[in-house]
Amino acid sequence: MQSSLRLAVCAFLAGCATIAAAQAPAPAIEHPATTFPYTPGLDVASMDRNADPCVDFYQYACGGWMKNNPIPADQARWGVYGKLAQDNRRYLWGILEDLSQRQEGRNANQQKIGDYFGACMDEKAVEERGAAPLKPYFDEIAALRSNRDLPRVLARLHLALADPGLFFAFSSSQDFADSSRVIAFAFAGGLGLPDRDAYFKSDAKSKDIRAKYVTHIANTFRLLGDAPAEAQRNAVRVMQMETTLAKASLSTVDKRDPYKLFHKVDAKGLQALTPGFDWHAYLDELGQGNQATFNVTEPAFFKALGTMWKTNDMASTRTYLRWHVARNLSPVLASNFDNEHFDFFSRTLRGVPQQQPRWKRCVALVDQQLGEALGQEFVGRAFSPGLKEKALHMTRQIEEAMKQDIDELDWMSAATKAQAQKKLAAIVNKIGYPDKWRDYGAYVVKPGDFAGNVRRGNEFETRRQLAKIGKPLDRSEWGMTPPTVNAYFDPQMNDINFPAGVLQPPLFDPKMDDAPNYGNTGGTIGHELTHAFDDEGRQFDANGNLKDWWTKKDAKAFEERTQCIVDQYAQYTVVDDIKINSKLTLGEDVADLGGLILGWMAWQAEMASMPQKAQPLRDGLSPEQRFFVGYAQWACENDRPENLRVNAMTDPHSPGRYRVNGLMVNMPQFQQAFQCKPGQPMVKEKRCRVW
Ligand SMILES: [Zn+2]
Repeated sequence: MQSSLRLAVCAFLAGCATIAAAQAPAPAIEHPATTFPYTPGLDVASMDRNADPCVDFYQYACGGWMKNNPIPADQARWGVYGKLAQDNRRYLWGILEDLSQRQEGRNANQQKIGDYFGACMDEKAVEERGAAPLKPYFDEIAALRSNRDLPRVLARLHLALADPGLFFAFSSSQDFADSSRVIAFAFAGGLGLPDRDAYFKSDAKSKDIRAKYVTHIANTFRLLGDAPAEAQRNAVRVMQMETTLAKASLSTVDKRDPYKLFHKVDAKGLQALTPGFDWHAYLDELGQGNQATFNVTEPAFFKALGTMWKTNDMASTRTYLRWHVARNLSPVLASNFDNEHFDFFSRTLRGVPQQQPRWKRCVALVDQQLGEALGQEFVGRAFSPGLKEKALHMTRQIEEAMKQDIDELDWMSAATKAQAQKKLAAIVNKIGYPDKWRDYGAYVVKPGDFAGNVRRGNEFETRRQLAKIGKPLDRSEWGMTPPTVNAYFDPQMNDINFPAGVLQPPLFDPKMDDAPNYGNTGGTIGHELTHAFDDEGRQFDANGNLKDWWTKKDAKAFEERTQCIVDQYAQYTVVDDIKINSKLTLGEDVADLGGLILGWMAWQAEMASMPQKAQPLRDGLSPEQRFFVGYAQWACENDRPENLRVNAMTDPHSPGRYRVNGLMVNMPQFQQAFQCKPGQPMVKEKRCRVW
């Protein structure tokens, strides 16, 4: 399965939908949706009006939702965003089922998504093929005799699997120093557990996860035919190698610092990092033999990798590759592999009791591999020009609010303000879907060939990324597909992106009054815009280049303000005794607070321009109260403790409860709206404010 390799893209939510495979009996007969179910943008039934908003606002705004929406057995977490994503998926299911059964009257893209979905859904054929799709890969690995063979074999595996777990990843990205150029990137990778810290944490639960991980690897080797003792030995060896690589890897906090990921080298410099690995052979096999400039995100990792290759016996390298190929492909193999994979990566790691029904995983795979072909079908049915215009109108208002906000800052000098305004003015708004759709012409999708379609999809995408190197940057490209329920800011493109999937009720609800819409979607637009000026985004200039445009004094003032946020969120507990790693979540926490302030300002401006729209009390809530409840109701969620533990390591977002309560304590407008008194939990004595 592919994983995104772009750096420093600040998504609104972590995309932790693991594509693990299915086999659970469906609890009830499910059907595709032919219409979108409507949930209002502010739902009083989702509130808990017995709770005191000044004591726990999250409980007040979301208590009903949490009670009425237990986590489904096939999910690691369940929230308003996840539920909407599932509604979108159920709707796409109907479209795909129809296209998979129709033979005539389909255009080229409809043929591809229909045939891909049909092959994926044919569980009987997948079962009959068993582990056969592994054979071509395992033949390659078995033929590995010396380190001289490794570069070409690895290049072919990288093309076909697009998986950073195979020692490292190689792709393209924008040059940090000159965002108009696309250059080759070599990324650290090589791990099977979700984070480098998972290999070293010394608490009992982490130790237990590691022991179960080794057992899972051993079980997989047994499925591949290794004798039990040999399978166990191989699993231990894989764990040793991954631990060595984890030791040389940067932490998630370090990876938020773009300077730590920026090390440009020429071909000689790249070769010097891993003396025994012939990069020319590797690049030649990828069709990239002429590349002269590379960014190596983590040189220390590549040095450690080079040492490992040099000192390893070839049997260890073959064992490691067999494991990672099997790990990658288990979800597309027969149920014995699929179940074993689900059992560790979903059940043990994230606490999910039951595999997702096959249709969900197949819709997700179509979205992953043919997302813009599927997106065209989605947008045509679910996103009107009127909706796009409404979203654009709100975006412009939020940008106007930011402009005013920057002007009024008392801690920033005129010189830095001028640079900030220049950057703000340069931000591009992408709403709904790309202006130019991706051309999938080179991707051959065959009916009845699920594993082959997955492979060709990976290869198509890997080659598409590599083909960008040295070409003019395509600024129209999107990093998310149109049905996605999420949004992001990209500091190198300097753009904010809102897929059609996120501009739907209950998040964006044209039937609702303005207050909850400005709290919810207004807050999200403000969030993405604020990312341009968070601790990471502020290091990029108006052109998307990594370049310091701050005076020393202003940078210091900024850091003092963000330290207030770091200290505040470090107090919050994620699960058990694990606190928020607030250096990891800083960018998101800053964006949340800045976003809601901008949403408020834009709403005030909208009301001032149209006084006739002023609303009286509705559902017993004042417009100001509806603004805050509307905001909070995007974040209602239930989480499994296992999943929270993984997210505490990997997710740069704070849990929903703190994405709500953590802001309210910093907003005087909230205290006024709910008449909260000093000393109450939702009133902080010393408020934080950055933007
Ligand atoms: Zn964000």
